[in-house]
Amino acid sequence: MGVSGFIKGFNFLHRNKPRIRFHPYGYIQWRNFSDSKILNGHDSLLPVLIVGAGPVGLVLSILLNKFGVKCTVLEKNKGFSKHPQAHFINNRTMEVFRKLDGLAEEIQRSQPPVDLWRKFIYCTSLTGSVLGSVDHMHPKDFEKVVSPISVAHFSQYKLTRKLVKMLENVGFRVHTLEGPEGLDPEPLKGREILMGHECVSIDTTDECVTATVSFYKEGKLLTRKIQSKILIGADGAGSAVRKLVGIELKGEKDLQKLVSVHFWSKELGQYLLYKRPGMLFFIFNTEAIGVLVAHDLTQGEFVLQIPFYPPQQNLEDFSPEICKKLILKMVGQELSDIDVIDIKPWVMHAEVAERYVCGNNQIMLCGDAAHRFPPAGGFGMNTGIQDAHNLAWKIASLLEGVAPSSILATYETERKPVAEFNTALSVQNFRAAMAVPATLGLDPTIANSVHQVINKGVGSILPSGMQKAILDGIFSIGRSQLSGLILNESNPLGSSRLAKLRHIFEEGKSLQLKFPAEDLGFRYLEGALVPDNKDVVSAPELPTGRRRDYVPCADPGSRLPHMNVRVLSNFPSEETISTHDLVSVDKVEFLLIIAPVEESYNLARSAFKAAEEYKVSTKVCVLWPADTVTGSQPGSKAKLAPWKNYTDVIEVKTSSDSLSWWRTCQMTEQGAILVRPDEHIAWRSKSNIVGDTYAKMKMVFSTILGFKSTNIGIEDSKT
Ligand SMILES: Cc1cc2nc3c(=O)[nH]c(=O)nc-3n(C[C@H](O)[C@H](O)[C@H](O)COP(=O)(O)OP(=O)(O)OC[C@H]3O[C@@H](n4cnc5c(N)ncnc54)[C@H](O)[C@@H]3O)c2cc1C
Repeated sequence: MGVSGFIKGFNFLHRNKPRIRFHPYGYIQWRNFSDSKILNGHDSLLPVLIVGAGPVGLVLSILLNKFGVKCTVLEKNKGFSKHPQAHFINNRTMEVFRKLDGLAEEIQRSQPPVDLWRKFIYCTSLTGSVLGSVDHMHPKDFEKVVSPISVAHFSQYKLTRKLVKMLENVGFRVHTLEGPEGLDPEPLKGREILMGHECVSIDTTDECVTATVSFYKEGKLLTRKIQSKILIGADGAGSAVRKLVGIELKGEKDLQKLVSVHFWSKELGQYLLYKRPGMLFFIFNTEAIGVLVAHDLTQGEFVLQIPFYPPQQNLEDFSPEICKKLILKMVGQELSDIDVIDIKPWVMHAEVAERYVCGNNQIMLCGDAAHRFPPAGGFGMNTGIQDAHNLAWKIASLLEGVAPSSILATYETERKPVAEFNTALSVQNFRAAMAVPATLGLDPTIANSVHQVINKGVGSILPSGMQKAILDGIFSIGRSQLSGLILNESNPLGSSRLAKLRHIFEEGKSLQLKFPAEDLGFRYLEGALVPDNKDVVSAPELPTGRRRDYVPCADPGSRLPHMNVRVLSNFPSEETISTHDLVSVDKVEFLLIIAPVEESYNLARSAFKAAEEYKVSTKVCVLWPADTVTGSQPGSKAKLAPWKNYTDVIEVKTSSDSLSWWRTCQMTEQGAILVRPDEHIAWRSKSNIVGDTYAKMKMVFSTILGFKSTNIGIEDSKT
């Protein structure tokens, strides 16, 4: 039986199973299959329904669309979020964006220049003394040696706008119920974003998932049922999908409560632009404490984060007028143009969902729905976008009939450990951020403990006005530590605190922005891959919270190392591309990278044959060492005939002492690397394979795609 026949047979075998219904309160009701024919008379079965039009849901839609998978997106709000929220886009996410029709380059063009956001500044007020400043960009960050692109600073709502525009450019329509698109579209064809539509219940059978969706039309609350083969919960930290299917979160809740104040002030922007440009400003003075995020100094767009202690404090304590006063206390001088746009409370958690996939591999959680981290280090949205990148090609492989549905289970196997690691890293980074106020005599853990005592201890019996007065009193005593009388070099306590602060900044022990080793170096140990022979699967190193450099690695599960190469068929063009560009973004295609040696050509022919058997597209890249080819016809054509899906490239060294490709990968040129559509390494052979290379490659593809029950290591034959 061919591979697609196997999948059809697999589905058939499971057809008469009962269905499961997920209700708002999380319980599961079993029903007979016989009453499950509730197909909405108008809609056909959608391949994928995405709940949530945040950055993660939108990126997933773009990726799926590229792979030719139709999807519809639901968004409960009538408009896209305008809150700036995330702003740091890490290196790996920029690599993903680089392949989305120039999105990364567009972000680079639109973002503020890097010199305006490379620093975190610690000060008594924005116009007062600077306690310290940390530059997070190192010279090597600009060299593009380990990656073809760098990190970026770009507000989440601006990113959302660009993602929506990209979707519209490829035929998606945004239905607002009130706008020109008017009515709720029927039938759904895929490529719609339905605004004002909230997923309120989920029901599954082996054949499909039915989402009940509520929306207001002409003032009336209506519902409709939308059926899809796969449903993705990309509906954020409070995920309704996660609750509906009864998946719990594990970790630490309520680390800190804060209020975000989104405001504009050109005056402040211009002042900081010329006097002390930076991304984050940590402000500590006797009247106010907060963190200012400079989203755009030129435009004067900011978000102020202020600690929030409910129930003694409530949102009315943060009216626009009060927030303006707080802003001025942190600025340290008058401003005439503060325009407060939005005031939003939020809670910091450090939690990961116990499962990412459920309901017969039909329902998946993605982004904040699956994990919620402290924003320290900017891992939240980045991890979510990389979830989507991991998931898109797997969904496409299943729907194309290339892989069985178990491929979707590898999404959880691979991505959950990454989220757990990034949670630990974000918590460490958050704690590092607390080192500065603690050194200034303002330990936030003490403030939180005092708050707990007032909430739950003896303080809770006092009238609420008195609780508030006590809390305010304690906080103002704490803030008095920041008085200029104490915090100066002539005061022994102040001078010792300032010396400790300098040490924290110099040693990189304060909040960090960049984590190259974790950003680019995360690795999947098991999943849709073949671990190295006798690979010792050890737990990943614990995060240190300090910046560590990324070291290129070609172990299975790692991201493909970047190197600049020249495509020989473009000769005499000197244009270079990244090894990442060799991986297709428009179709599910594997890439086998080999050196131009006889045994590897033999392996490549076997790979083509095995891939054909599995109906999975595979391309071969013959990577020539620098300076070994001068023309455009190096001879791979004859070696690989009759197969044609190959490309010859030659490595381009950035300097005379830069390592060759195979040395960078810590391999010999007898080896080979098989890369997945998400640029992660699925399998590699460190040395050449002797014997039946066809059988070996068949085993490799079947293991990756999940046609075998276990991922066994495949022996590299030693010469
Ligand atoms: C102050 C702050 C700063 C941050 N900074 C960074 C940073 O610099 N870098 C970074 O990577 N991350 C950062 N983050 C985290 C980042 O904002 C989130 O990780 C990101 O928004 C997650 O995207 P998402 O698409 O998963 O979820 P969301 O952005 O929350 O989107 C989910 C969408 O689903 C919709 N929805 C919810 N329920 C339903 C339903 N039942 N039916 C239909 N639609 C529904 C919501 O309305 C929402 O539009 C920060 C977060 C905060 C709070």
